[in-house]
Amino acid sequence: MTVPSLKDFRRIVVKVGSSLLIDQAAGEVKEAWLTALADDIASLHREGREVLVVSSGSIALGRSRLKLPRRPLKLEESQAAAAVGQIALARIWAKVLAGHGIDAGQILVTLQDTEERRRYLNARSTIAKLLEWRAVPVINENDTVATNEIRYGDNDRLAARVATMVSADLVVLLSDIDGLYTAPPALDPEARLIPVVEAVTDEIEAMAGAAGSELSRGGMRTKIEAAKIATQAGTHMLIACGKIAHPLRAIATGAPCTWFLTPANPVTARKRWIAGSLEPKGRLTIDAGAVKALYAGKSLLPAGITRIEGQFARGDAVIVCAADGHDIGRGLVAYDAGDAERIMGRSSQEAAKILGVSGRKEMIHRDDLVVGRPPQ
Ligand code: GLU
Repeated sequence: MTVPSLKDFRRIVVKVGSSLLIDQAAGEVKEAWLTALADDIASLHREGREVLVVSSGSIALGRSRLKLPRRPLKLEESQAAAAVGQIALARIWAKVLAGHGIDAGQILVTLQDTEERRRYLNARSTIAKLLEWRAVPVINENDTVATNEIRYGDNDRLAARVATMVSADLVVLLSDIDGLYTAPPALDPEARLIPVVEAVTDEIEAMAGAAGSELSRGGMRTKIEAAKIATQAGTHMLIACGKIAHPLRAIATGAPCTWFLTPANPVTARKRWIAGSLEPKGRLTIDAGAVKALYAGKSLLPAGITRIEGQFARGDAVIVCAADGHDIGRGLVAYDAGDAERIMGRSSQEAAKILGVSGRKEMIHRDDLVVGRPPQ
């Protein structure tokens, strides 16, 4: 199986752990590091990708701001510390993203919000709306109300659950270690980083048990649990080192990391996302020749389109149907409604001339198209 790259993904959840974010001694957020991470997030955002952040740090930040003793906190103490920490955390995320003209939207979830269907759907549509508005959701557990019994407790599993909830195609866990090792690297000079995990087997789980990083609440064990949640639902997962500046850029340029691949390859995962989780913004009616081409797995060209409805933008999902209104499938359009109107029914060469640019020759590329089964 080929290892994917960040470019293959459209909707990415990035989880940032407390130990990366908080300078315990100073009791503050490591602002220079976070500013560099925000640069990386903004580049993905500019490329048209949707980015969600799952940020830890409320308890750690609150505890250092309040100068609480270094003993384990009682429940009400950690809840109160989170109240102080979360407000500071939200402020700094809003600030670093605003530096790129991006709005941050804070979402605090409880375990019930992801496990009860009605609340799950509610949280999902709020997040979807934020993404539609091109804001970056910044998510954490609502630690001020979470109790010891009813809580995630670690943001690794929370990030994986959120990723599956919003049908993200990738979740990146930025950690204090660059991936899963065959043994604890500090203790065993023979320890090897595992670059790709195709299935979370008992053997993999055993390695995680041994090679846990204990600096943050989520050791390797919760990361493996997260991998199970993500990959079973068609989302890839990546563990990478966050201790460097620009950690996402480093992944894109080949830094060591561990990929956990979902059995559904990226195209299928993305197609599932196209098929199930986007609100179609318009409708394209196509001729019989195009219907045949689509059922044969081809892309939709402007020449085959006979009618356009709806005010869609480039990259929006639309329904594709035959002349009799029969639903053929849906896909992400390469042109907005205005341009689509101008080039429909035209050959790709004519279309390029009309638009005065040589854009994509397909109206919907086959990778962005989910076609139903042909009628029997
Ligand atoms: N939700 C916790 C916090 O923000 C963090 C949990 C974790 O470290 O994974 O403090």
